[in-house]
Amino acid sequence: MDKSVLRFSHCNKDIFCFFVPEECPECGISFSGRRLEEAPVSIPNPFSNGHKSPCSFLVAPTDENKLSRDFDGGSDLHTGISTSKGVVFNYTKTGVCRDHQGWERCLSIPLVQPDMYNLIDQWDQYLDKFSTAQMWDTVWKSFNEETHNCYNYTLMFINCVSATQGKRALSKDEFTKSFVLPRIKRASKYSTLCREISQNHFYIVDSPLKESGETDGDGKT
Ligand SMILES: [Zn+2]
Repeated sequence: MDKSVLRFSHCNKDIFCFFVPEECPECGISFSGRRLEEAPVSIPNPFSNGHKSPCSFLVAPTDENKLSRDFDGGSDLHTGISTSKGVVFNYTKTGVCRDHQGWERCLSIPLVQPDMYNLIDQWDQYLDKFSTAQMWDTVWKSFNEETHNCYNYTLMFINCVSATQGKRALSKDEFTKSFVLPRIKRASKYSTLCREISQNHFYIVDSPLKESGETDGDGKT
């Protein structure tokens, strides 16, 4: 679904596009028969299919535009945990859902290393047991947008697993700042790039300074 974004440099600009053009959109010089000074680089797509990301923490943007807003761990985004088989457990007003679809485009943070066999073996059981606890039973304790939401559910699970590994628990703030926000920012930038390129074919910014000593102050288009 996503086209991949490429970046190349010319005219002291970084030029983002889906296809490298035949000529530079800045200076019009033809690239045919020439080589770009540096090969175009492809920008990694920050989105992945949650159903193909086993044992991961997942963030699904409920609305693409909301990505650009600051994420504070509130309810703008929906979070979940995938099983080793890609079923996504997530807490909603109606209790814990087990989704087999709907998380095809999300941000994923793997929670186990590939060599943690014991943990991977037990993962699905842990998640199942955790999810059937009274804590997530809507009769016993109801969903609350602020204090008892999908994010509390995922984070509490992560902390339970950490405890079995002898690791300390992370606060909501710590987890958000170190794991979630950087990915949200990257995803938000990537979405902006895609939107700009779809509209204008290119997205052009000044190249970060290189030590080349070129100093012609050209205006931005
Ligand atoms: Zn150029």
